[in-house]
Amino acid sequence: MSYNPFENAQKQFDGVAEYLNLDAGARALLREPMKEFHFTIPVKMDDGTTKVFKAFRIKHNDARGPAKGGIRFHPHETADTVRALSTWMTWKCAVVDIPLGGGKGGIVCDPREMSLGEQERMCRGYIRQLYNQVGPNVDVPAPDVMSNGQHMLWMMDEYETLMGERLPGVITGKPLGMGGSLGRTEATGYGTVYTLVDLLNAENIDIKTTAASIQGFGNVAEYAARLYTELGGKVICVSCWNQADKTAYTFRKKDGCNIEELVGIKDTFGSIDKDKAVALGYEVLSGDAWLSEDVDILIPAALENQITPAVFLNISKRVKVICEAANGPTTPDCDPLIKERGIMLIPDFLCNAGGVTCSYFEQVQCNMNYFWSREEVLEKLNFAMSKAFRAVYELGKEKNLYMRDAAYVIAIERVVKAVKLRGWIS
Ligand code: GLU
Repeated sequence: MSYNPFENAQKQFDGVAEYLNLDAGARALLREPMKEFHFTIPVKMDDGTTKVFKAFRIKHNDARGPAKGGIRFHPHETADTVRALSTWMTWKCAVVDIPLGGGKGGIVCDPREMSLGEQERMCRGYIRQLYNQVGPNVDVPAPDVMSNGQHMLWMMDEYETLMGERLPGVITGKPLGMGGSLGRTEATGYGTVYTLVDLLNAENIDIKTTAASIQGFGNVAEYAARLYTELGGKVICVSCWNQADKTAYTFRKKDGCNIEELVGIKDTFGSIDKDKAVALGYEVLSGDAWLSEDVDILIPAALENQITPAVFLNISKRVKVICEAANGPTTPDCDPLIKERGIMLIPDFLCNAGGVTCSYFEQVQCNMNYFWSREEVLEKLNFAMSKAFRAVYELGKEKNLYMRDAAYVIAIERVVKAVKLRGWIS
């Protein structure tokens, strides 16, 4: 069965819209993005040829503030994936109550197969096509899957050159010293663990007694794994993509992975070197083995549509918590099964909201041209994430709602209020 992420996002919305008895105008407005840009970027490649990349920037809703969201680089990127991700950004910014809307971008490309010069020309080309549709008060991109701080900086430089002034608030996730915020690199992974810690505390579970299995080893997974193990949890396995073999593998150590060691043998896109892992004593299993591991916590931190009814059958009876660090990792037809088994699920747009929350802090710091210490950033981040988590958890308990639905109720109500106050709907 194949899943379309945008249809998934609409199904999730429709269910909660029904629960909230939203009127037809609000439903029609919020189940579609408000603006879409589809364009091509011609890039001169190192071998003298020109390659044309397809690209998107989609704004779902900016009633609560400028649109905000990352730009994904992926060979399988589609308009519908970007539509879904822009929709989830609206709910994400609303659930953590930051004054931003939802947007997302994507380029159909594989940066793993491109030189740095080709990547730079592609980033600059993206902005040349889009510069009058983004801006600190319009739409603010950031990194996402396979895009990083260097890409953001090239984009910022192109934008500032075209605009003739310094406008670092146009983009977030920039390198330190160039308008970036301390704590931004770790923010999404740390934010995931902040929500996990809050859940474990609320449920009286000692993190030191827990074991986890992680899918993905990019930036989000790395920092989630680091903080989780620092707090005493044990990561039993990590599954990630291997670009050379064009397949995924699960790396397992029954007595707990050494995260620093694994970070030392991964590339910048999150692929762990198989031979080096074997030499360090890791078992190498199939890519989907992470899902059937006997653990308490599953952390999908890669791509969408990974936890489906078909694979749910393999999930260990021991699993108590699913932390959705990725966007859209669970398909809507799997939610009833998770609920039925009593697994507590921290939904993606809450669980991984640490990244955009820190992006918001980065914008604030850029606007003031005054930068905070890492401690100050992480303290504010933890506060914002815990506040959002508590509201969702308590509403879930009070109304007997699945946490995804409780988070949707809070986010949708905030966005509906904004579009009503603005007079966009009656
Ligand atoms: N790409 C990240 C996300 O999906 C961060 C977005 C941002 O910082 O704007 O939340």
